[in-house]
Amino acid sequence: MDLGIGGKRAIVCAGSKGLGRGCAEKLAEAGVEIILNARGAEALEAAAAEIAALGVRVTPVAADITTAEGRERVLAAAGEVDILVNNAGGPPPGLWSDWSREDFIKALDGNMLAPIAMMQAVIPGMIARGWGRVVNITSAAVRAPIAQLGLSNTARTGLTGFVAGTSRQVAGKGVIINNLLPGIHATDRAVSLDTAVSQAKGITLAEAAAERAATIPAGRYGTPEEFGAACAFLCSQYAGFIIGQNLMLDGGAANISI
Ligand code: NAP
Repeated sequence: MDLGIGGKRAIVCAGSKGLGRGCAEKLAEAGVEIILNARGAEALEAAAAEIAALGVRVTPVAADITTAEGRERVLAAAGEVDILVNNAGGPPPGLWSDWSREDFIKALDGNMLAPIAMMQAVIPGMIARGWGRVVNITSAAVRAPIAQLGLSNTARTGLTGFVAGTSRQVAGKGVIINNLLPGIHATDRAVSLDTAVSQAKGITLAEAAAERAATIPAGRYGTPEEFGAACAFLCSQYAGFIIGQNLMLDGGAANISI
């Protein structure tokens, strides 16, 4: 299927590994030029070279996307963009009573205010050109909260509220914004969560992964490739009637009907 976005230009934030990388690869396969961001230069350069081998131009920008300075550098390198994939690392787990104002501000900066700032920076140009796509990587926890991820639940729900209104304000101008909500996926983050479970329970890493996979009706973790394909579709010419949606990619783990 031709997604109809060959020759477009995308910023993919936090895209040297995991879900962001899956999105960058599937956009590149669709012929999209990529401005690829992450903090660590070495992994970023390696990812950029591998994605460029798919036949598109890839510009790596090593920067912390949760800082104003980092965002400025990414935006300066990108110039006019047609597609924005917002992503960053998630906040740490904990207990509701432990978090200070500073902890909340950090989580809000990373997982709510940074993606909002990126949208505010690129959407005016998209409106002027009459075409744009934004995908925000949030979390299945937005719809099915995970108790110990209170910082994440809080910040990502705030972003979801912003997208709910904004997506409807800009849809008539050709700019389409949606959110992708990952459940458990086979990335470095999943390995670190599996490691925590294996240490807490005194079981092997494989046993911990099998235990967590058993909680998913699909019986396995999702893959960055599947996730990236969903992202590329939401960035395609065919997504113009999908407005402000929150698409769960969780293998059926959340027991909800709508
Ligand atoms: P991952 O495999 O650990 O990859 C994270 C990527 O983001 C890396 O490329 C990392 O590179 C980059 N990154 C992190 N913080 C950044 C920052 N401040 N600025 C720029 N780049 C940054 O993580 P993932 O599993 O793909 O997760 C992506 C997002 O989805 C996270 O917010 C996570 O909480 C959420 N999520 C994941 C899952 C899952 O099962 N995987 C489930 C629900 C939600 P550098 O470290 O070099 O910057």
